[in-house]
Amino acid sequence: MNILIMGAPGSGKGTFSSRLKDEYDLKHISTGDIFREHMSNNTDLGKKAKSYIEAGHLVPDELVNDMVLHTLQELPEDAGYLLDGFPRTLAQAKAFDQATKGTDHEVDRIIYMDTPSDVLTKRITGRRTCPKCGEIYNIYYKPTKVEGVCDKCNTELTSRADDNEESLATRLEEYEAMTRPVIDYYTDQDKVSLINANQDFESIWNEIRNALEA
Ligand code: AMP
Repeated sequence: MNILIMGAPGSGKGTFSSRLKDEYDLKHISTGDIFREHMSNNTDLGKKAKSYIEAGHLVPDELVNDMVLHTLQELPEDAGYLLDGFPRTLAQAKAFDQATKGTDHEVDRIIYMDTPSDVLTKRITGRRTCPKCGEIYNIYYKPTKVEGVCDKCNTELTSRADDNEESLATRLEEYEAMTRPVIDYYTDQDKVSLINANQDFESIWNEIRNALEA
C-alpha cells in the first residue's frame, strides 16, 4: 500500500506516521526529516534548503522533486511507502503522479489530517522532539515526566528552528495557498480520506485505520 499523509503544520502527520509505518510495514519518507538531516550534515542540498526552511517557506519544487524521486528509486519494488510532507504544491503532485503512474509506486490513498487552525499554533509552538529516538512531545498536550528530557531515552529534547510563531504564520499561509489545492486535486481523483484530527489519539487512529481498511 502506498500512502500520502497530508495536513497543515501541527495536524499530527509526524505522530501518526510513526504508528502507520509500524502497523502497515511501510517505508516512512518524511521530506522535512530528510531536509533536516541534510542541514545537520551541511550537504549542498542542506545549505540550499536551510534559508527557506528557517523562514517558514517551502523549498523550491525542483529540489524537492529530485530528492523524493531519488528516494523512491531506492525502494524495493514491492515495498509500500508512507510519504509525509510531500507533495505540498500542485507542481509537485503532478510531477510525482507522472513519474509513478503505472508503476508499483503509484499512490493508493491520501490520509488528510483535518485540523481547525486555532489548534495548530499550540501544537506547533509546544512541540519538542527527542533528537536521539525521534519521540515527539508537546508541553501542553503530551508533557514529559521530567521537564525537557525524553521519557524513553533520557536525552535532552530540542525544538525545531522553524517552530516559532513568526515562521509558523508563513507556513500556515503557504499551506493554504499552495497545499490546499493539492488536496482538491486528489479529492477529484477520489483518493482522499478526510480524518478529523482534532480528537484524542485513539479516535484519530481508528478513523485512519477504518479509512485504510475500507
Ligand atoms: P515538515 O517537517 O514536513 O514540516 O517540513 C519542514 C520544512 O521543510 C517545511 O516547512 C518546508 O520548508 C520544507 N519542506 C518539507 N517538505 C517540503 C515539500 N514537499 N515542498 C517544499 N518544502 C518542503
